[in-house]
Amino acid sequence: MPNQGKRRRTRIPTDLLAAAGALCLSAGVVLAAPADPGPRLDQQALVRTLSLLRPDYPLYISSVRPLTPGVARRLYMALVRPGATDPAGRGSAPNAGPGARNDIVYDEASIATGHSVAWRSLLLEHEYFHARHMAGATLLPVVRDGVPEIERHYNEAAAWGFNVAEARAGRYPGLSPDEFREALDRLGEHYAALRAILKDSDPARWSRISELLLRPETLLTPAGATPSEGVRLSAASHRERSTP
Ligand SMILES: [Zn+2]
Repeated sequence: MPNQGKRRRTRIPTDLLAAAGALCLSAGVVLAAPADPGPRLDQQALVRTLSLLRPDYPLYISSVRPLTPGVARRLYMALVRPGATDPAGRGSAPNAGPGARNDIVYDEASIATGHSVAWRSLLLEHEYFHARHMAGATLLPVVRDGVPEIERHYNEAAAWGFNVAEARAGRYPGLSPDEFREALDRLGEHYAALRAILKDSDPARWSRISELLLRPETLLTPAGATPSEGVRLSAASHRERSTP
């Protein structure tokens, strides 16, 4: 997920807020590369946190590692295919399909500076959701129409919606109001962008998609379960970039 700093507030439909229930998403602003690397993140501590939050994470995630030094990207975390070093690089797109596993890469400075420890949990769960989606282990159908913007907004609205629902359920104790707001803004931005693309051009499809996005907490199937009938796998293999 990209990091955004201060963002324009986006109005979120009342029904979406009500459905999402309780807490956060993540966002991202563009941070200038700091002269001082700032607070450090302990890689093993992140892995332990992910393990506590989602004990089944090894089914979908092969490693959690910092961005390679010199790869400066405006993001908190991103999901990339195993071993990929540049989230924006060609060939970094996550693997997709049953059994697919991918790596989480993260930017130490953007996560550790000015954020709570709870924010790390939210970010880890965001990428976990993406990873399960890529593996076909969610109830979220995948857009496969060759329109990258639709797929991106759809995937991100779902992942942020999942974060918000989890936050509202109290899963990220210590999350600050600003962090929750950041996550909520990201949800609103992707939801609004998707609605702008689809609502008039394909109202039936928008109706189906918006119905799913209103109940993100229901999108996870039991760990390791076969995806529900009708789930289609992502065309992520055709994308060139990572999933933020
Ligand atoms: Zn994301």
